[in-house]
Amino acid sequence: MHDPNCLFCKIVDGKIPSRKVHEDDEFFAFHDIRPAAPIHFLIVPKHHVASMAQVTDEHAPMLGRMLALAPRLALQEGCNPYPDGGFRLVVNTGTEGGQEVHHLHLHVLGGPRPWARG
Ligand code: 5GP
Ligand code: ZN
Repeated sequence: MHDPNCLFCKIVDGKIPSRKVHEDDEFFAFHDIRPAAPIHFLIVPKHHVASMAQVTDEHAPMLGRMLALAPRLALQEGCNPYPDGGFRLVVNTGTEGGQEVHHLHLHVLGGPRPWARG
C-alpha cells in the first residue's frame, strides 16, 4: 500500500530522489537529508505504515527483519564494529515523540562521537 501524499512512499517509488543505502523487496534505506550524526540513514518498509502507534502483532516479523537489517547496513555505511564502534537506533513516534514524517522509519545513527544525545 502506498500513500500518494506520503514523502517516504514517494522516495521508495523514486519520485523524490534520495541517496540510496539499500533496497530489497520489503525495505528501502537512504541517507537522512539533515544528518544528526556522521552516519545517519533511515530504513523504511516499502509498505506504508504510519508509525509504531499503528503496529500490531501482524507487523512483528517485518519489524524483526527491519531491526536485523540495521547492523548489516551500519557496517556497510562505515560504522565501526561493536563494541568500540556501534550505532544508535531510533524510532520517533507521534508529535510528542518527535515524528515529522508519518511513514514508519528506523533512524540508524553512528560514527565518531561527539554527536549522541542522552
Ligand atoms: P522523524 O522526525 O519523522 O523521526 O524523522 C524524519 C527524518 O526525515 C528527519 O531526520 C529528516 O531530516 C528526514 N527527511 C525529511 N525529509 C526528507 C527528504 O526529503 N529526504 C531525506 N533523505 N530525508 C528527509
Ligand atoms: Zn508512506
